Amino acid sequence: MILVRDIRLSLSDKEERAYEQALRIARIPRGKVAHWGVSRLSVDARHGQPKLVYTVAVTLKDEGEEPAFAGASPCVALQGKTDFTVQNGAELLDCPPVVCGLGPAGLFAGLLLARQGFRPILLERGPALEERVKAVEHFSATGQLDPNANIQFGEGGAGTFSDGKLTTRIGDELCGFVTQTLLAHGAPAEIAWKQKPHVGTDLLRGVITSIRKEIEALGGQVWFSTALTGLVQNGGRLTAVRTTRGEIPCRALVFAPGHSARDTFEMLMNSGLTLECKPFSVGFRAEHLQSEIEKSLYHAAAGHPALPRGEYQLSQHVGSRCVYTFCMCPGGQVVASASEEGRVVTNGMSYHARAGRNANAAVVVSVGGEDFGGDPRRAIAFQRELERRAYEAGRAAGPYGAPAENIQSFLEGRGQLKIGRVQPTYDRGVAPADLGALLPQELSQTLRAGLRAYERKIAGYTAPEAILTGLETRTSSPVRLCRGEDMQCTQLAGLYPCGEGAGYAGGIMSAAVDGLRIARAICSRYAPAEG
Ligand SMILES: Cc1cc2nc3c(=O)[nH]c(=O)nc-3n(C[C@H](O)[C@H](O)[C@H](O)COP(=O)(O)OP(=O)(O)OC[C@H]3O[C@@H](n4cnc5c(N)ncnc54)[C@H](O)[C@@H]3O)c2cc1C
Repeated sequence: MILVRDIRLSLSDKEERAYEQALRIARIPRGKVAHWGVSRLSVDARHGQPKLVYTVAVTLKDEGEEPAFAGASPCVALQGKTDFTVQNGAELLDCPPVVCGLGPAGLFAGLLLARQGFRPILLERGPALEERVKAVEHFSATGQLDPNANIQFGEGGAGTFSDGKLTTRIGDELCGFVTQTLLAHGAPAEIAWKQKPHVGTDLLRGVITSIRKEIEALGGQVWFSTALTGLVQNGGRLTAVRTTRGEIPCRALVFAPGHSARDTFEMLMNSGLTLECKPFSVGFRAEHLQSEIEKSLYHAAAGHPALPRGEYQLSQHVGSRCVYTFCMCPGGQVVASASEEGRVVTNGMSYHARAGRNANAAVVVSVGGEDFGGDPRRAIAFQRELERRAYEAGRAAGPYGAPAENIQSFLEGRGQLKIGRVQPTYDRGVAPADLGALLPQELSQTLRAGLRAYERKIAGYTAPEAILTGLETRTSSPVRLCRGEDMQCTQLAGLYPCGEGAGYAGGIMSAAVDGLRIARAICSRYAPAEG
């Protein structure tokens, strides 16, 4: 794929003109083009009249010819395909590898193992997607939570009910392989060329089940509603795993349970393994009118039909902490993301069209090991306590209602919620509450300082109608299980910590890539048993 950057056009120009400019700059004859698309579109509003700035992606009918055009101008770059092959090792793996967790990390680990002939067994504590969707809808309608089938747990993992954003900063070439796999399983074609690709929860679900079916077709087994409950070890080596369906022999376990598997972390600690405390963040979900965010980002160009839904990412250092926005969902909604009874957790998602009226994003402050004396149990207890307080504070709106407050009110510590043009989208309903009182005072004050700084970056960020809903506590895993260069746990051979829960990923793309890295490590060492 050839990328042609920095094509500047006026607001009245059509998209087709960006394409023509791209061909001219890169000196590509029209007849050679197989496909083109807009990879990135931004607005340069600095010098009076706003300009649209395009990056155009072009694929040639003969992809082998693409490098010849890459040097035409400094604005032209080449983006190659990821050629990812793995050679199996020689040591016989006499029992199937086991994968714990069917989130992006476990799914991609399972897929590579299955493609390499290993017939893995995948354990997932929650149900298959269809049943999981019913459980999530039932919870949303009634407030009856299934601790094993919810926004965090079940086929597809935490990202299933998400915006499906595939952006990541890890810069690993395996990202290309993940994208190609998602495309082959039905993700929208544009994720191949968009700079900020997103799938949307509606389309992501079909992709996940399609990948799982490929694993099964290759001889892998997926055991739904089956949790990993224990490890059996002998002389510092894993020999079997305990599950809710009984014990199975195991010499290679991909441990990818996500950041919410607190009981599973407890099981590891009770097995004598040491978990490290790692930084995570807590705070709220902010909601604004999408149109107001776009006015601030696009200025006079706001509302132009060619422009993508406006997105933002903000951060502000306040003392030794950082207040930042995270997982921004344009045109999205705030979702009830609890996985434990009597605890409220917020998160955000959107459908592929991102057509909702509100923009939402997490506004969070970092906390770390030093806040908990390096004790992972204290870090988890802190998350749980905040979620319990949020549950109590939101209860006036019904079970799993969430506490909410206008941003201005939060800044002034008033605990008021006046609903104007920004209608809160949290599905279980919201109740007015003093959000500052739910967090330790120092964290609330830090968040206030961060929000005041955001107003200088996005005009109207703290406008009276903007709303905060809480609490956001599951930004990433509070723990890490250390692994060595061979990807195995440094304390137990045969255990492969993987994905977000083990502390090695943050987001769908990086979790999927980590799953591939772990599976590659297993494949390169072992040969699958026959039959
Ligand atoms: C609502 C929401 C929206 C999000 N939006 C985005 C987004 O747009 N873009 C993005 O990049 N990231 C997003 N994220 C974060 C992203 O989903 C996670 O970073 C990613 O899913 C982590 O992948 P994982 O495979 O490591 O873990 P998970 O996806 O958490 O999967 C872990 C799986 O393990 C299972 N499990 C847990 N314990 C056990 C056990 N003992 N035995 C068997 N199975 C077990 C769980 O049921 C779960 O299915 C979002 C998260 C949420 C909740």
